[in-house]
Amino acid sequence: MSAYVGRFAPSPTGPLHQGSLVAALASHLDARAHGGRWLVRIEDIDEARALPGAAEDILRTLAAFGMQADGEVVWQSRRKPLYEAAFARLGSHAYPCGCTRREIADSRLGVASDGAAIYPGTCRHGLAPGKAARAWRLRVPDPGSDRICFDDRWLGEICQDLASEVGDFVLRRADGFWAYQLAVVVDDDDQGVTHVVRGADLLESTPRQIYLQRMLGLAQPSYLHVPVVTNAAGEKLSKQTGALALDVGRPLDGLMAAARFLGLGVEAGSVEAFWERAVAGWKRRITLP
Ligand code: GLU
Repeated sequence: MSAYVGRFAPSPTGPLHQGSLVAALASHLDARAHGGRWLVRIEDIDEARALPGAAEDILRTLAAFGMQADGEVVWQSRRKPLYEAAFARLGSHAYPCGCTRREIADSRLGVASDGAAIYPGTCRHGLAPGKAARAWRLRVPDPGSDRICFDDRWLGEICQDLASEVGDFVLRRADGFWAYQLAVVVDDDDQGVTHVVRGADLLESTPRQIYLQRMLGLAQPSYLHVPVVTNAAGEKLSKQTGALALDVGRPLDGLMAAARFLGLGVEAGSVEAFWERAVAGWKRRITLP
């Protein structure tokens, strides 16, 4: 049995669509190509955005498309003590921030590629008088001192200067929820994930996650970011951009379209045959480290 552990980590904000199927397919193919395990983690840490019933719907859809988790499905909303413990280990590298979204936007440092305004470090040396703590942020290295680079298995070398491109980033949000960046790093480590395969919409988050892994003394998994499916207007497919839910009655159509998107021309008459051929195609397409 290979030591490979992969995962698919959907946020239960709505049903799976063709875009999320591409990420699920790629992560499942990579795990099968390595003879490894494939885990599913429900990322419902943002409880305000989680839609009741969406997680169950996602799991049913994955099963209909031929993807079953190897092991128990975990739910982030049930793992808060783990995030709390990791946060405590960061000690004074984390600090309270009293800035509102508006104040950060007004500092006009620009917007990181994930849409969040770059944080100017206003509260780095303490809260201004009269300000109350809202979020907690992680101090990042000074500009230019420590670029984070990693070798993406699909895209090659990716580097980011956290200070100028992101700024000190949020670990605990103003609404009290743990931030995605912290939860995902803690979970990937706790679940023994060795290979992260996901959509390139998360590429800009990876240097933050690697930095957190270093701060917490955790192993760094290998990363592969697959292209993101867009609609006719060039927007990433999502519930907000009107993506249609996958048709669980026609898994083969969705799977073949997702495989085509990844450059694997797979024709098959059944879901089982699809997976067999797609795994063989993935092995030819991707270097297995
Ligand atoms: N929950 C994230 C999403 O659905 C994915 C997180 C990840 O794969 O690291 O976009």
